Order: sequence, then structure tokens, then C-alpha cells
Amino acid sequence: MSGLKVNFNKSMLVGVNIADSWLRAVASALRCTVGKTPFLYLGLPIGGDPRRLGFWEPVLTRIQNRLSGWKSCFLSFGGRLVLLKSVLTSMPVYALSFFKAPSGIISSINSILIKFFWGGSEDTRKISWISWKDICSSKEHGGLGVRHLREFNLALLGKWCWRMLVDRGGLWFRVLAARYGVERGCVREGGRIGSAWWREIVRIRDGVDGLGGRWFGEGVVRKVGDGTESYFWTDPWVDTGGEAWEWRRHLWAWEEEMLGECQVLLLDITLQAQLSDTWIWRTDPVSGYSVRGAYQLLTTHPSDPHEAALDLIWHKQVPLKVSIFAWRLLRDRLPTKSNLVIRGIITSEAQDCVAGCGGMETAQHLFISCSTFGSLWSSVRSWIGFSSVDPHSLTDHFLQFTFSSGGLSVRRSFLQLIWLVCVWVIWNERNQRLFRNSEQTLPRLLDKVKLYSYWWLKTTNMNLVSNYHSWWTSPFTCLGMV
Ligand SMILES: [Zn+2]
Repeated sequence: MSGLKVNFNKSMLVGVNIADSWLRAVASALRCTVGKTPFLYLGLPIGGDPRRLGFWEPVLTRIQNRLSGWKSCFLSFGGRLVLLKSVLTSMPVYALSFFKAPSGIISSINSILIKFFWGGSEDTRKISWISWKDICSSKEHGGLGVRHLREFNLALLGKWCWRMLVDRGGLWFRVLAARYGVERGCVREGGRIGSAWWREIVRIRDGVDGLGGRWFGEGVVRKVGDGTESYFWTDPWVDTGGEAWEWRRHLWAWEEEMLGECQVLLLDITLQAQLSDTWIWRTDPVSGYSVRGAYQLLTTHPSDPHEAALDLIWHKQVPLKVSIFAWRLLRDRLPTKSNLVIRGIITSEAQDCVAGCGGMETAQHLFISCSTFGSLWSSVRSWIGFSSVDPHSLTDHFLQFTFSSGGLSVRRSFLQLIWLVCVWVIWNERNQRLFRNSEQTLPRLLDKVKLYSYWWLKTTNMNLVSNYHSWWTSPFTCLGMV
């Protein structure tokens, strides 16, 4: 007996295949109310049908409420990304670890997130400059590492399939086995009488259709111990001979060949009487299935293009909003005038560079070749004390700038930060000129570069705090890098 008592005032009685009159009588005897399915329990409708959109309504509403509490227009991209990730890691996980979300629901959740990320409120939609799929790619693959919901959902549900193999003593397994029956070591699918929940789990286990195909089935392998628990024909146990190979007739040559192949397959397998058969998760033979591992398996595509410069936007001392800004810049997804022309938002007559240099405002022009903004680079280089030319493309520029002072990783990391400061300063100056009608001189912009880099670096570099003045004239000396 546990010490907990049922509070009948707070409880309700729900009947399954029971006459209403009887249910009401029992409820009044127990002094609790009669409930109906579906009812909400821990934020999920119990007894509802997860294939229906209405089932997911509470989840959507909660995400919406949580995000609309924040005025996204007052937050930077960095702030929005952090919030969005935190909402995603906490809110829908509970629902997604039980139920397969219909693709309509995944798109609805995504569109709430997209609007939030790009700064639109519920009724005004702003331009999504980069596809959601790219935003969801991992940082190693050039994205921002937001979760792909569909794959995450599958990875969470895959856990049930894994438990089905390794936790056969569990009550829930015994319930399922009793309800649907077991065939060759697998709980049966149950056909039409199967619950919607169970049928989705079986689809993942058997790789019936949908995303990832047979990822689960291909992920497991049977490690044979004494062999008593494994099914010769259906379990995936030969991966990696027997002696009593007796045949009723002589084998033909092609049969001998097949026999040879078969023996090779069985070469590494010996029965061990004292060990029982176990299941192994291929990608992690030691600790077995994990949601994180399965998610990686489902989202990693080896053919994804990868740009070296995209790695450089992530720097520990650079604010997240600046990294996201650089991420958009390198993909040419900033609202530069020429990009706005392409999207039909302004006319092509209105795409002159705000510096009045007569050039067209493309990212390349603004950040490198503009006679006004672009000259910041040479001032910065003479401040730091090195010289180089400006490559034409932004990615080359970033790479060359970062690697221009040789191999020392502290120097590289410093120049990487300075490059990010510079593009940030240029963009802000451009916006000041465009929207506030105020402009600053080149020396003032250089001061900003010095100031921002000082702020960002001083939290982790104690040397810097006492050497503010030498920072102004010779940053490498100040950082002890000469
Ligand atoms: Zn210009």
C-alpha cells in the first residue's frame, strides 16, 4: 500500500464500455464526478485520436501563448533563437514522446516558430529570408541547430520500439503482449483493433512508410549468446560455421558457392551457453538507443554541402545576434536593397548605396567594395598592424582576414572576432544612415570596432581591463600576441 489517498473531490470516473446508469451510481457513491473521454491529463487529451488536428490544439495553444508573451520585435535574433529553442525543448516533448504528430501539426508548429523568429507578430508576416529547413540544420552543417520536429518526434517514438526489445519484463510490454499477442518475438500489429498509438509505433518498428524508412530495423542487430531467444530466420543476427553441414545429396557448384558465402557470414558467431541473447543498437553498441543518437541518425545526410567560412561565424565571445547576422550575410540573405528588389519590395531605381557612391547596394558592395564602407577594412588592418588585399567574395574575405596573420589559433580567433565586429559596425552604420538620417565618419567607425571588440573580449581576458589605452593603439601587444 502506498501512503497516497485518492482525493475523490478532485477525481473523476471515466467508463469504458460501461452503462451510464451504473457509472453514475458508482460516481455518486464515491462522491466524484463522471468524466468523458477525451479529457486533459498533464496537458494531453487522454482517449483522443492523435491523428486528428483537434487532439493537438492544446499543444499548439501553449506554444503560441508562451511565445506571444514575448514581444518578438523587441528581441534580437539571438534572443529569439534562444527563446525558440527553449520553448521547443520543453513544450511539445511530452506529447511528441507519446504520439506521432500529423504532418499538418508539425507545419503549424513550425509556422508559429518561423513567424516568431523572423519577428512578425501573429497578424503581420515578415519575410523569411532563410528556409526553415536550413535554420534547423545543425551548426556543423551551416544551420542554427533548431530541432527538426518530425525527426525529433520519430526519435522519441523509436524509444518505445527499443524498449519493446530490451525491456520485456515491463508492465506495459506485458499489457501489449496480452492484448495483441506475440509472433516470432514481436508484438503483433493488431490490425483494425489496434490503438492508433500502437499502430504508429509498429510502423516505425517495421519501417512501413514515411520518413527515414527502415531506420529503426536497420539500426538494431541481434547479438547471439546461447541462441535460445533468437529467431533464426527473422532476427537480424548475422552481420559480422557450423560444423554439421550434412546434405541429402551432393551439392552443385553454384550451391557450394552459396554455402561458402553462408559459412563466411556465420564465421564469427559462436554460441555461448552462459550468455543470453541481447539487442544492440548499431550506432551505439555500448549504451544502446538514445533519442539524441537516433535524431542524429535521422537528420544527418552525408551529402550536405559544407562551407568552411560558415564555421567561423560562431565565436564564443561574439554575441549570438551578431553570429546570426553574419550567418545571413554569408548566405546573402540580408535585406540589402538589391535583395529587396529581387523580392519585389522596392523598385530597381531605389537600390543605390546609401553612402552616395553611385554603386548598387549588394552585400558585396556594402561590405567590401564600397568606397565609403569598404575603406573600414584598411583602417582596421593598420590598427592591428598587418596588410592584405580584399578578396572579392565575402566568404573568401572572411577566411583570408581570419587566417592572414599565420597559424596561431589565438590570433586567428582574434581576427575572426574583429571581422565579425567590422561587418556588424558597417551594417549598423548603413541602417543609421538609411533610417535615422545620421552618419558617422570613418575614424568614428574604427573607434566603434575598437570599443565593441574591447567589450566582447574583456569578460574573458583580464589583461585587457587594465590596458584599455594600449588596446586603442596596439591590440596584439595588449593581448600578448606579439
Ligand atoms: Zn557604396
